[in-house]
Amino acid sequence: MTIAPQTDSVEAPGEVETYRKPIPVPDEATRPFFEGAKRHELMLQRCTVCGMTMWPVKPRCIDCFSAELEWARASGRGTLYTFTLMHQLYDPGFADEIPYNVSVVELEEGVRFTTNVVDCPNAELRIGMPLEVTFEDITDEISLPKFKPAG
Ligand SMILES: [Zn+2]
Repeated sequence: MTIAPQTDSVEAPGEVETYRKPIPVPDEATRPFFEGAKRHELMLQRCTVCGMTMWPVKPRCIDCFSAELEWARASGRGTLYTFTLMHQLYDPGFADEIPYNVSVVELEEGVRFTTNVVDCPNAELRIGMPLEVTFEDITDEISLPKFKPAG
């Protein structure tokens, strides 16, 4: 996965807002993940030999080293493993959101997923809080998994 340089070409005619943060560019390895996100399904790799679920994308199972991997829809449920609040501006696209959280969600499938928790004030973030996936449609092609308080 690479990150596209920010351009103004994201804005469609008539669109009110322009997405100003970096936009991921799927590659061959990550395309199933992004295709799933577009459908609002959180897709993870799973080993067909031992059942290990993996994230981020790997060429082989990290447990049994098999190359027999498949993509499976994750439950979308997890808990907040850890988070930090970003006060430094590293990309001008984030200027309106400082301080924003960068959170690690431990998914039911056992992997940890770096994301943002949305629909929750930063002051209410708590380690272990139950979360569920939600999707932010940032362009016609790209949707990003975020997490929100469950229920
Ligand atoms: Zn395996």
